[in-house]
Amino acid sequence: MKKNNFPRIFLSPPHMGGDELELIADVFQSNYIAPVGKHLTVFEHEIAQYVGVDGALALCSGTAAIHLALRLLNIQRDDTVFCSSLTFVGSANPILYEGGKPVFIDSEPDTWNMSPHALKNAFQQYIHKGKRPAAVIVVNLYGQSADMDAIRKICDSYETPLIEDAAESIGAKYHGKNSGSFGDFSILSFNGNKMITTSGGGMLLSNNVKALEKARFWSTQARDPALYYEHSELGYNYRLSNVLAAIGLGQLRVLDQHIRSCRNIFSRYQTELGHLPGIDFMPEPPGYRSNRWLSVMRVDPLVQSKTPVQLIEFLEQNNIESRPVWKPMHLQPLFHGTDFFSHTPQKAVSECLFKSGICLPSGSGMTDDEQFRVIDCLLSQLLG
Ligand SMILES: *Cc1c(COP(=O)(O)O)cnc(C)c1O
Repeated sequence: MKKNNFPRIFLSPPHMGGDELELIADVFQSNYIAPVGKHLTVFEHEIAQYVGVDGALALCSGTAAIHLALRLLNIQRDDTVFCSSLTFVGSANPILYEGGKPVFIDSEPDTWNMSPHALKNAFQQYIHKGKRPAAVIVVNLYGQSADMDAIRKICDSYETPLIEDAAESIGAKYHGKNSGSFGDFSILSFNGNKMITTSGGGMLLSNNVKALEKARFWSTQARDPALYYEHSELGYNYRLSNVLAAIGLGQLRVLDQHIRSCRNIFSRYQTELGHLPGIDFMPEPPGYRSNRWLSVMRVDPLVQSKTPVQLIEFLEQNNIESRPVWKPMHLQPLFHGTDFFSHTPQKAVSECLFKSGICLPSGSGMTDDEQFRVIDCLLSQLLG
């Protein structure tokens, strides 16, 4: 495929703020390259304060954070765990690590996140079968919170703990409260493509500081307090390095700036393309404030002649990276045969979003010129 000569525009590349190298230099100066150090402690403290939770544990990935949350909730082999279907596989893989049985829940049209209606149906059916789920994992998609009041209410009525996957939604708000503060345990990701990055990393958040201490113990190979190496529990090598925490501290200083630019990028796409027939964008209902990590556009196949796949291919020919919306977990070969609860008896909302959605370049460092290159490409393909 011949590509034009313009430099590549990535979907969501890392965007350094400027202080990161200096903070890394601090770490080198102190020689606390490993295993832990001041930057790690400060990073945890600052994140906990930003989100509004009592404690935070820095880990090597968001996936590791979900895994430890499931361990803390004592998920056993064959336990049922309800999980959003429209998400990245990192939300669901840890259920399999523990031998649990995922059950996937469809999206609702208003937020594109877990449908409270489908969740309630799932609870009713599973309780009826005598299989009380051990946990619910709710995902905040593309930077927008799920309907936490409704979901929390359902979980509480069945006395089931809630894990909030806020990997994509740091800095987003739901009725004034920060994303990452709604779960019994919540998780963040600092993977390279996320709103802020440590190159790779994650965080486990909770008001249950005692539980976080247990997770801290497991995350460093579960070494019992003894001079020699003594182990009575299964552990992992999941801790974030102090060097990477220094990058995180630098990124935290520009987090609000990143959110502002991602929201501006979204508004511009919406202004320039949203008036076209059969084109719309991810909604933001009243009371929600998305961080707009990725700008997601929908293309109605009954109105527009180009499909999302054709548009993605055309953008690629112009050296622009875009992606379909996450392929729902209940459609993944890995999860073949798992149970799924749809929002409606007709076609699942998550399947429609997968078929009609495109994630457009949304990097917080994208320039106006770059964004207009993307917009011009799309305008040349879409019917006006
Ligand atoms: C990125 C992501 C994860 C996993 O985070 P890692 O840090 O890459 O392990 C989990 N859930 C969602 C929704 C994500 O987008």
